[in-house]
Amino acid sequence: MLLDTFIDDLIESIENTSKILILTHYNPDGDAIGSSLALQKYLELKGKEPEIIVPNDFPKFLKFLPKAKKITIAEYRKKFVPISIKEADLIFCLDFNSPKRIQQLEQNLIESKAKKILIDHHQEPEQFDLMYSDTSAPATCQMVYEVIEKLGDKDLITEEIATCIYAGIYTDTGGFRFRSTSARTHRITADLMEKGIKNDEIISNILDNNTLSRFMLLAEMLRKMEVLEEKKTAILYLTRDDMLKYGYQKGDTEGFVNYGLSILGVQFSVFLVDDLKNDFVKLSFRSNTDFDVSTFAKKHFNGGGHKQASGGKSEESVEDTIKKIKTILEEYEI
Ligand code: 5GP
Ligand code: MN
Repeated sequence: MLLDTFIDDLIESIENTSKILILTHYNPDGDAIGSSLALQKYLELKGKEPEIIVPNDFPKFLKFLPKAKKITIAEYRKKFVPISIKEADLIFCLDFNSPKRIQQLEQNLIESKAKKILIDHHQEPEQFDLMYSDTSAPATCQMVYEVIEKLGDKDLITEEIATCIYAGIYTDTGGFRFRSTSARTHRITADLMEKGIKNDEIISNILDNNTLSRFMLLAEMLRKMEVLEEKKTAILYLTRDDMLKYGYQKGDTEGFVNYGLSILGVQFSVFLVDDLKNDFVKLSFRSNTDFDVSTFAKKHFNGGGHKQASGGKSEESVEDTIKKIKTILEEYEI
């Protein structure tokens, strides 16, 4: 839907509502948390009191974001969250394209009578009551900025809001590396800098808060990595035993899949890891060419995402999933 039409309906929706919720996806990343906090702060300036709910906890390196610690984490508030969702009359769904992506809260969202508003950049979004979907946007945070600007409220963007938007754009573009980064993205981040953000500190908070367990896991992953030269593919993986051995903490493997793409000649990177809480293997896919990893994830691993960054799941073991990937790759020219 075009931003103009979206905005008209949005203004009316916000005016006629009392209880607003902001929901984002399972395993929230910098863009999910950044966009939720930015929208929350903006709506507060408009006299509303939105609550942010995330399905599960998010990495420590994002806790520096203003008011991040006030976010409701559903896995720790099992009794209250379903009530909040039921009582809401407006729910913003940020940075996800399908109720499936909020895991255990899926049914609560579907059954809620609230008006559901999507702001998201993933491919093939499902139907929501009101939608602003832009698959060319590098981050939902950039879309939140566009919404605020379109509402004529650029002046309301505080340093705190700007910090959250910047953090989400920075993380979802891989530090302005991915192809989705546009001139518009740089213009927006320049505007954010003029709001007084400390961009050096934001980046340092994101990059230089590594846990020792992350480094040990990284070393283990790189040691075992497989490169299929013919397929220009890197396969990176960590098993449940690795995770337990090195004392995995939430967020430790964030971005590991990108290491595959930094090898000369590699155009497709796969990262597999045992999800310690659920009984499945989580897969991440990245490409630095036109090879569409979103279609690949959807077709073979019940997943999705973007053309150059996607994810999925496998019910088989890490080893068997790697075997399956190798067989599938026989059909592909990378
Ligand atoms: P990541 O590899 O960082 O977990 O995910 C990369 C991108 O793919 C993200 O934008 C994420 O939203 C999407 N993604 C990851 N896992 C899944 C999944 O299981 N299903 C779908 N539809 N998208 C996913
Ligand atoms: Mn995103």
